[in-house]
Amino acid sequence: MRIECIAIGTELLTTRRLDTNSVWLGERLARLGLAFHRKTAVGDNREDLAELFREALKRSDLILATGGLGPTFDDFTKELFAEILGAELVEDAGSRADMLAFYAARNRVPPQVNFKQALIPVGAEPLRNPVGTAPGVWWEDPPGHPGVRIVLLPGVPREMKRMWEEQVEPRLRPLAGPATHTLRMVVAGVPESTLDERTREVRERHGHLDWSILASLTQVELLVRSEDPAALEAVLSDLKPVLGGDLAAVGEANLEEAVLQALRARGETLAVAESMTGGLLAARLTAIPGASQAFLGGATVYTLGAKAALLDLDPAWLGRVGTVSEVCATALAEATRQRLGATWALGLCGNAGPEAEGEAPVGAVFIALAGPEGTQVRALRLAGDRGDIQLRSAAAALDNLRRSIIARP
Ligand code: ATP
Ligand code: MG
Repeated sequence: MRIECIAIGTELLTTRRLDTNSVWLGERLARLGLAFHRKTAVGDNREDLAELFREALKRSDLILATGGLGPTFDDFTKELFAEILGAELVEDAGSRADMLAFYAARNRVPPQVNFKQALIPVGAEPLRNPVGTAPGVWWEDPPGHPGVRIVLLPGVPREMKRMWEEQVEPRLRPLAGPATHTLRMVVAGVPESTLDERTREVRERHGHLDWSILASLTQVELLVRSEDPAALEAVLSDLKPVLGGDLAAVGEANLEEAVLQALRARGETLAVAESMTGGLLAARLTAIPGASQAFLGGATVYTLGAKAALLDLDPAWLGRVGTVSEVCATALAEATRQRLGATWALGLCGNAGPEAEGEAPVGAVFIALAGPEGTQVRALRLAGDRGDIQLRSAAAALDNLRRSIIARP
């Protein structure tokens, strides 16, 4: 089955918005043993869209489009497909009722433009939208194209995902191939190229499997896909000795989850004192449900005054040693560990840029980890813009902690 994805929206062609819908849909298709043969992002332009829809109808058996189902002037996905296929649009009573109920529940009256959303091409089925107002469309065997299926979903990721799970996936399951399983391994603190080299032998040994390496700012993901779960088990047991302590997580977890799990498993706790990351580390940890079982909290001590007031550090002394220094990071970590009675505490200071700060160049970062065996500090020079440096610092701090936790008997 040839499956084509069309992501509709002018913003997807700019740097303002990434087309994440097609990535998510591709992952969901893989679970069904299906894959895209092509995907396209296209702006809200009638000519471009019409041309693409005509081509897609010729070359694909399943067309999955997201976006352009809303009520505004730039939403015309349904109208164009109907026009190209010579199908009339008729109001779907259920969709109209859903929309009226959606507005009534919010004590509002739907604007007149919204009623066009309840229009569905003759011969197609509406897909109800339980979290928004734009219904989707499931269109099997559209006029002149027997065997073709068209699926139109809203662009809003939350709505698209819910409708896919509840209404599209069940309809596609009978067409699915053998399910594909994915082994996901998160590797921290190792550059992508090093990982590539270190895993080469194992990848060659299991060369018949589908491998990919996905690097982001803070970690590298190694993905292996196969229809055979036993083959993935074999890969994991071959890779474990190769990756050793660099393997931070297996499965869906990311670095912060791996850290929280390791802490919980040992009954240990963590506190943080953040200067240049401004709470990013705490935010990443608290994004994980149940974080409070291991993460106690901490302080955002951005200024010298905050460091003095919240952690009782002598401002004159801090001024002398410098607020971007090993000594400062150590003091942040130790004061926080003591105040919150945590097993571990991280202290972060540095200069995220864009300007050098006195002696401290952009990207100079100090990460102290205070723990049961004392305090160790790492000095890093990180690259990137302000946001990159902050993200990388938070990840480096988490990975430091993770390695220290697993190194203890
Ligand atoms: P609405 O009823 O909200 O108007 P719609 O079907 O018309 O829904 P769009 O207007 O195209 O959808 O997009 C709605 C929101 O979803 C926008 O914020 C848009 O940036 C986002 N969005 C659209 N397509 C994608 C995509 N492929 N990936 C990620 N976000 C997307
Ligand atoms: Mg819209």
